[in-house]
Amino acid sequence: MSALKFASSLDRLGTESAFVVLARAQALAAAGKEIINLGIGQPDFRTPDHIVQAGIQALEEGYHGYTPANGLPALREAVAEDLYARNDVTVNPNNVVIVPGGKPTMFFAVLMFGEPGVEIMYPNPGFPIYESVIRYSGATPVPIPLKEEAGFSFAAEDVLAKIAPDTRLIIMNSPSNPTGGVVDEAELDKLAKGLEDHPQVAILSDEIYSHMLYGGRTHKSLLSYANLKDRVIMLNGWSKTYAMTGWRIGYAVWPESMVEHVTRLCVNDHSCVNASTQFAALAALKGPQDEAREMINAFDKRRQIIVAALNDLPNVRCADAAGAFYAFPNVSETGLSAEEAQDLFLEKGGVATIAGTSFGINGEGFIRFSYANSEDNILKAMERIRSLLS
Ligand code: PLP
Repeated sequence: MSALKFASSLDRLGTESAFVVLARAQALAAAGKEIINLGIGQPDFRTPDHIVQAGIQALEEGYHGYTPANGLPALREAVAEDLYARNDVTVNPNNVVIVPGGKPTMFFAVLMFGEPGVEIMYPNPGFPIYESVIRYSGATPVPIPLKEEAGFSFAAEDVLAKIAPDTRLIIMNSPSNPTGGVVDEAELDKLAKGLEDHPQVAILSDEIYSHMLYGGRTHKSLLSYANLKDRVIMLNGWSKTYAMTGWRIGYAVWPESMVEHVTRLCVNDHSCVNASTQFAALAALKGPQDEAREMINAFDKRRQIIVAALNDLPNVRCADAAGAFYAFPNVSETGLSAEEAQDLFLEKGGVATIAGTSFGINGEGFIRFSYANSEDNILKAMERIRSLLS
């Protein structure tokens, strides 16, 4: 037996089941089974070439050293320009902090506010890392239930009613992983107004899927609420929009009072993001957008195909998925639990999906399908599931 004594906080740290399912799917594939992967949440496209070239060029030109901890000034300026152009919000580049992916921002925001005795609210079903890092910090996670019948949005009054004197942070995510839902703008307006009565509450708005909105919808950033300017942290990044999950780069816009704290967390944690990735990210923002747009058009087409096909399966119903690249059908009438359905689809059908319960207790009865896969594979997967459910 080992004499090592680990910190008890490790027992509270969760994980992201998507990686567990991916490993199982890969093991089945290695054993000769043909697997269609609708589990993993990353674009199935290559990073556009001009972005890759910018990264290579930076390496060739000798950008091999540290950069400022908060990111290259040119990149932070480009982020501010992009936010102005796309979301009509004015941001000071000094409030932009570049980090290695979308995840570090959520970790740092939760570490900044979370400790025992504190409550942090988060969407459930939601990205599993929220609940995991809230627990890790010692704070109490308070779920904001997202309901199928409300398009996986929430009523502002329900959220406001859950705010306690010890609530320090509310995490929001629209468009949402895993539901594909988008928060209703009227509810967002009401929430922003209601938060005026709770000045101790900061908001982490995870807008990493903000470019992936379909059916003519437009994105309203939480940054556009002037009355919340001193307490909204807006998380975003390149992983999804530019198919750059493996490059590890993201950013957040932080309120003035938090910039120094988060920069210190960066210095302690990772020093900076590697320079070539930052040059690639700069090229992504400044260069042609057609490939990113084509990718989103492809997702939109697949979205329509998969939602229709899911609704056509026996005892399955699927709400319209308005954003991101996920469909979140209700499978409870098949008689299977979410995990049983996930295992059946993978083991017997060779289709990797993620049980809704991987995203919190309110995900029971649902399955997340990522449609970051070809139309042919999506249709083939639907046929395999149909024969399993028939
Ligand atoms: N936020 C949400 C809602 C996500 O779904 C993901 C990735 O799946 C992330 C953040 C993390 O993105 P990154 O890979 O850039 O860390």
